[in-house]
Amino acid sequence: MRVKTGQNGEHFTFCRICEAFCGLVAEVADGKVVALRPDRNNPHSKGHVCVKGVNMHAVTHDPDRVTKPLKRKGNAGEFIEIEWEQALDEIADSLRSIMSEHGTEAVASYLGNPTAFSTNAIMGFGEFLGAIGCRKFYGAASQDTNARMLGNYVVHGAPYPFNIPDLSRCDFLMIVGANPLVSNGWGICAPRMRHDLDAIAARGRVVVVDPRRTETARPYEHVMVRPDSDAWLLLAMMRVIIDEGLADTDWLAAHSEGWGELFDAIARIDPVAAAARTGLAFDDVAALARDFATSERAALYAGLGLCRGYHGALGAFLYNAFNALTGRYGRPGGTRFGLNLIGAVKPFGGGHGAPYTRIGHIPSIAGMLATAMLPADIEEPGEGRVRALLMSAGNPVLSAPGGAVLERALSQLELFVSFDFY
Ligand code: SF4
Repeated sequence: MRVKTGQNGEHFTFCRICEAFCGLVAEVADGKVVALRPDRNNPHSKGHVCVKGVNMHAVTHDPDRVTKPLKRKGNAGEFIEIEWEQALDEIADSLRSIMSEHGTEAVASYLGNPTAFSTNAIMGFGEFLGAIGCRKFYGAASQDTNARMLGNYVVHGAPYPFNIPDLSRCDFLMIVGANPLVSNGWGICAPRMRHDLDAIAARGRVVVVDPRRTETARPYEHVMVRPDSDAWLLLAMMRVIIDEGLADTDWLAAHSEGWGELFDAIARIDPVAAAARTGLAFDDVAALARDFATSERAALYAGLGLCRGYHGALGAFLYNAFNALTGRYGRPGGTRFGLNLIGAVKPFGGGHGAPYTRIGHIPSIAGMLATAMLPADIEEPGEGRVRALLMSAGNPVLSAPGGAVLERALSQLELFVSFDFY
């Protein structure tokens, strides 16, 4: 029998730490979660968890966790505890005064990655920022994901629809720049990755393209390429696929536009020279291209490794274009789109372009400004200089480029509010 919220007993829930969303059973005693264990009956995760998920209650009850507002007093790291009412009043007064003197451009926000896994946080924070007229959104995506969102925007028409391979029906999965046995499948909500990959390998092939012999490369077919050569591999393969008449032109004609330009651009690629950049023999690249293109149920899956290096944006574009060229979208065993997170698109929508950073005029991607430019936005005098920063679940001094410069810049803010439980 199901117990009611707050009652002692077993409650069924799921882990919000990453997009695997593993099912959990929470044991409640005396109003507290005392244990978390895998939910073997959860139809999505079927008992899979990692060490983080089953220990999250230790974070909830950690005596060091911040449960009341802390106000900075004195030197770095020195805080005093204050009541919520005082905190809210002081933040509101300070925001009001900064905005009336300097305008809404003086207020910026920063969204850390955990915000994306909390519907309440992303919608609540988005609504609040919208209500006060804040239009400067900095976020963790610019540290690693922007190239992928740009590739999505160019090929899919919007930054958020990510490719999700149809793992349960795929017979040939080619993985580029990803280590899903460790990451649990970035962006594809697949908690049972080892089972999925083993099943695909038993039915057909799992080919892992990576410069490193990763945990995922070891048990499957490893194609060891030179670092930062993924884009060249995809270009060489696409040239072979087009030259040998293996492109799915029926699918392209029915579902896409502009593919003639793609064919023209690929025709300018020398496939032998492109293959040489990867460190692979051209014949091996051509054979891989043929096998993929002629497989009935094949998909290309790429992780964030594809976004790193000099060809990150090109690689992200080619990733989507490669799946399109071989007609994989919406096909059994191919690739498909998931439903967008509620609220993820509207408050932080947009593609590539405006708004631009105040310093450097760098275009935003999916409405997010490049965090690398946040220190300059705080420190450089002029109209629109950031004087207040509202941060949700972020730690960019550690995660963003130029952390030391950002730390210095943060100390110059008139108001800095960080929503975090540590
Ligand atoms: S893989 Fe780990 S962190 Fe991710 S949802 Fe599952 S238990 Fe949570």
